[in-house]
Amino acid sequence: MRYFELEEPEDLESGQWSGSYRAEHRWCLPSIRCPRCGARGGLQAYPSVELSGLPENDSLTDIRPQSAEEYARRAALVRPFAAAGIVLEPACRLGPLVGTARGHFGPVTALPSWQVLVREDARDLLLGEGLQGIIPIRAELRTRRTKEQALYELEARPLAKLHPDCIDRAPTCPDCGDNGFSLPPKRWLLRESIPQGVDLFGVEETTRIVVSERFVDTVNRLGPSDVVYREITAE
Ligand SMILES: [Zn+2]
Repeated sequence: MRYFELEEPEDLESGQWSGSYRAEHRWCLPSIRCPRCGARGGLQAYPSVELSGLPENDSLTDIRPQSAEEYARRAALVRPFAAAGIVLEPACRLGPLVGTARGHFGPVTALPSWQVLVREDARDLLLGEGLQGIIPIRAELRTRRTKEQALYELEARPLAKLHPDCIDRAPTCPDCGDNGFSLPPKRWLLRESIPQGVDLFGVEETTRIVVSERFVDTVNRLGPSDVVYREITAE
């Protein structure tokens, strides 16, 4: 199976589709304040984490940096609501996207590249064809158009890893323990970490979302999308 990273098109003006949206996930965990690193947090989103039944969810809309202790307290509140395979990280976004949309959307939208939305017909096709790892959460986007199809964000759980040979890790921070890396321009997956048979997944410690060749072939049956599929190899 070949795999592809989703990327934004370089030239948005030449796209086929006029659709755009402004939205935020309903909840979040705070970033962590570290005296050495500053604020630390990522961009992962888990729209399937539904917190409306959590009485203490007031603090879970504030992403501002907190102490490690306060972060741990809030993460513990969220944990029971997060499915297996979800890695809660500082500043991760939770719950559905909420906002507004305008224009017409293609089968797949990835603006930014770490936020993948599919049109309702694309969701139905992916599920109907039996693709695996497709976790669609309806985005709550207000629009003036009544005929426009609903959009669903696809949750990407970080199931695969980049190959250690393409990563240049920072030394471990003595205060917060962080030893992250910046995304290498030339990168490949660690083959044994690829979840077998799964057609969409995230890559640990990055914002990358990877889809299978089967995913690309399936959604392309609905026509073009303004998305670039960049092949990522594995070793
Ligand atoms: Zn630190």
